[in-house]
Amino acid sequence: MQLTDIRPRLLLGPGPSPVSPSILEALARPTLGHLDPQFLELMDDVADGLRLAFGTDNTMTFPVSGTGSAAMEASLVNVIEPGDTVIVASNGVFGGRLAEMSRRMGAEVVLVEAEWGRILDPDAVIDALRAHPGARALAIVLAETSTGVQQPLAEIGAAVAATDTLLVVDAVTAIGGTPVAVDGNHIDVCYAGTQKCLGVPPGLAPITFSEKAMDRIRSRTVPCASWYLDVSLLAGYLGSERKYHHTAPINMVYALHQGLSELRAEGLEARFERHARAGDRLKAGLVDRGFTLFAQEGHRLPQLTSALLPEGVDEGPLRRRLLDEYGIEVGGGLGAAKGKLWRIGLMGHGACDENVDRLLAAVDDLFG
Ligand code: PLP
Repeated sequence: MQLTDIRPRLLLGPGPSPVSPSILEALARPTLGHLDPQFLELMDDVADGLRLAFGTDNTMTFPVSGTGSAAMEASLVNVIEPGDTVIVASNGVFGGRLAEMSRRMGAEVVLVEAEWGRILDPDAVIDALRAHPGARALAIVLAETSTGVQQPLAEIGAAVAATDTLLVVDAVTAIGGTPVAVDGNHIDVCYAGTQKCLGVPPGLAPITFSEKAMDRIRSRTVPCASWYLDVSLLAGYLGSERKYHHTAPINMVYALHQGLSELRAEGLEARFERHARAGDRLKAGLVDRGFTLFAQEGHRLPQLTSALLPEGVDEGPLRRRLLDEYGIEVGGGLGAAKGKLWRIGLMGHGACDENVDRLLAAVDDLFG
């Protein structure tokens, strides 16, 4: 297959989301060296844009060279030392991944679980925090892409802030679509991805560390187990020293720069409202067509709708026809929800009425 054979798709799955022509053009700008003063200036702009998107004043804010999982790993590996207790609140695939990574780093994981599709009860999470006062970190997913649930964080954040424990939050699907409010929610380490509501291709993963997290990192007794993701080494490149650490993915940084400029131009609140409007329209349209919304009422993500298909419908072949005949990608269910639901993303550039209409019209055709 040649690249010129690629047929465009309308990406309405759980990510990646559609990339606008202006962001694709940014990728094609001339590649610079990673120590070129022009590039360093762009990196500073990107850090500023990420602070806006995360809702933080944290100095240590940058894009990890890698996807969301790399930043998930960076968040954990920098704060965990072998033998530490880490509380992981899990109600889906990505909570499970946080637990798995923490265990691999030698942590004693205390799991607080909720049924898939439901939020984690803040009181249950806070009880676990009280029961483990020495816990190094409490990790939780803000926007659980496997179920479409939006986790309330305010109470949990306030409780963690009163302790020495660090709050680690997955905002991969949240950033740019719904508020993250890193500072407002007292989040210590927050990571994200470029390929969802920021509308940038996959390949970079924004991350931010509070001063409380940086103090913890500075007082580690053993070095961070990862050289590549060690934030104290990365600080040498990101800070005034500009010391070589690894070669930044230059053109992806251009794409993120463009995505963040577009976010700034639209305004965060306007961007959230656009996602909310599109998500509401989609949900109403699906319910009209016999789908059942999976995520707990009152805690549904606008940017990712999970919906059980009408009784008796074999979702796999239909999803394939949607791709082949209509050029529209949606996601299937994961884990226990496999074969039962669709996960439909209206993210970034893709969150608009026109895409809702295209999808619902295709569903009408397919369901006859
Ligand atoms: N966390 C969440 C909530 C996600 O949705 C994803 C990806 O979909 C990830 C983490 C992992 O990100 P990536 O696939 O970019 O490594």
